[in-house]
Amino acid sequence: MSHPARPYVGRFAPSPTGDLHFGSLVAALASYLDARAHGGLWRVRVENIDPPREVPGSAERILSDLRRFGLKPDGEVLFQASRTAAYEQVTRQLLAEGKAYWCGCTRADIPASGIYPGTCREGLPPGREPRAVRLNTSGATIAFDDAIQGPVEARFDGEIGDFVIRRADQLPAYQLAVVVDDHFQQVTHVVRGADLLDSTARQVLLQRVLGLERPEYAHLPIALDPNGEKLSKRMGSDPISTLDPVDAMTAALRHLGHPPPAFATGSALMAWAVEHWALSRVPATHAGQAGAAAPRSRL
Ligand SMILES: [Zn+2]
Repeated sequence: MSHPARPYVGRFAPSPTGDLHFGSLVAALASYLDARAHGGLWRVRVENIDPPREVPGSAERILSDLRRFGLKPDGEVLFQASRTAAYEQVTRQLLAEGKAYWCGCTRADIPASGIYPGTCREGLPPGREPRAVRLNTSGATIAFDDAIQGPVEARFDGEIGDFVIRRADQLPAYQLAVVVDDHFQQVTHVVRGADLLDSTARQVLLQRVLGLERPEYAHLPIALDPNGEKLSKRMGSDPISTLDPVDAMTAALRHLGHPPPAFATGSALMAWAVEHWALSRVPATHAGQAGAAAPRSRL
């Protein structure tokens, strides 16, 4: 699905659960470059909907890291904590339409596979109190073309199951908040790490159930293995706030299949990257990268 009438809007959406590391820099940089190369907008959204996991001061440090790397968002940064009424409204709508239901199961009721078997889909079993809200995914399948990873398809029955959209602690689930806010911010292109590909299936289904347009997706090679990447140990493990911006940017561009020429430093490095950026040059995976040797066509 393409949206010729919709102007390009990309985004970077960090959770304030710690400092940015190399993998996050790769995602921030790639989403920024793809937006700039398309003459589009680049939004930043702080996904602070999980107070128990939030690290104090982390959001401020993330935003200051982005500034230090020359990654300037268009418009105001959106904080998801300001959006709880919107998540609540969508959850109530899905419940009212019978597309979601209350689940009374505890962690102990979920099978070892982690796939919820739909126990409460037809109503709470006797004696159970409502805890979480789940999306009814019965019979659903999704398929889309990822700009880097290729065709992706998923079947919910037996593979993913009915997933939570409001948690048992009554906080909105990550998947729901992302979908509601990608729509709210008119995001047309999502460029992020392949570690989120599993989430994308859930988000694409939610978009369909809610009648929202699906953004284009591009999932970047995971930056995990310092050896496979030929990254220095420090580059692979230290917060980016402690790294030299030119060194870290150069390593990130190499990871993304865009090795910059030696003359490109400082602001010239970013200018070079915007001018030469092409998603088609980004590898799906890196040789020697553990656990991601081949593109996955199924989730
Ligand atoms: Zn249940």
